Amino acid sequence: MKRLQKVYLQLFLVLCVAVSLTSIFPTLSHQAAIPVQIAHLDDCAIDAIAPSTPQSEGAYVANSNTGKFHYAGCRYVNMMSPSHKVFYDNRDEAINAGFVPCKVCRP
Ligand SMILES: [Zn+2]
Repeated sequence: MKRLQKVYLQLFLVLCVAVSLTSIFPTLSHQAAIPVQIAHLDDCAIDAIAPSTPQSEGAYVANSNTGKFHYAGCRYVNMMSPSHKVFYDNRDEAINAGFVPCKVCRP
């Protein structure tokens, strides 16, 4: 019986190591996700600071599929299908057309 107890003890130790490893790695991947969010916030901050940056196709881009509009520099504009893009030079035009401001870039 003493031998069996040793085996259980070893199994317990292996489990402890496995649990501590899985508890370390999720925090690492969580920390890695934060810089991505900061990078996006920086993009929006640049848009907010320099709204006079000339945009060849309008400062705001609305999505006729989702009903939302964005700063032209928003990452969602790049993900948008070209057929859904509606361009506006000012914010009021987009709102009057029934579009809702994006919650990420907050135009
Ligand atoms: Zn946006």
